[in-house]
Amino acid sequence: MIPEQCIKIAIENGYDFWGYKDFKMDDERVVLIYNGDCMDERPLSDIAQDPAFWQALGKGFGWDEKAFCNHCYIDKQSWEEKPRKCAGDWLKHEFNDWLYHALRYFETLLTGGNLEQFWKKLLPKE
Ligand SMILES: [Zn+2]
Repeated sequence: MIPEQCIKIAIENGYDFWGYKDFKMDDERVVLIYNGDCMDERPLSDIAQDPAFWQALGKGFGWDEKAFCNHCYIDKQSWEEKPRKCAGDWLKHEFNDWLYHALRYFETLLTGGNLEQFWKKLLPKE
C-alpha cells in the first residue's frame, strides 16, 4: 500500500514512473495513463521495490535533514552529539535516509504492521 500523494510527490521530484505522469490506482496497482488512455498497469510492489521511488520521495520530503542509521536507527543528530557504536558492532553507522524509510516500510509490511500508520507519520500534517 502506497498513498497516491506519495507517488505524486516522487514523480514531482524526479521519479521517472516508466515515463508516465498521469495514473489511477487502487490498493494493488497503478494504471498508467497517457492522453486520457489507460496504457499499462503495474503492481504497487514494483514501486515499493524501486530505490528510485524512495530516493525521489526523500527529496520531496527533505529527509536528508534527519537521516537515520540503516542498521540501528539512531538519528544523525544524536550520533553527532554522543557518538556510539552501531547495534551490529561490526558495522559502522550508515546514514541513508531513503533506505532507512524503505526498510521501515518493508519491516512494517513483513511483520503485519499498519502501513496506513507508517505513511501517516511520514506525510505532512494537513
Ligand atoms: Zn548504526
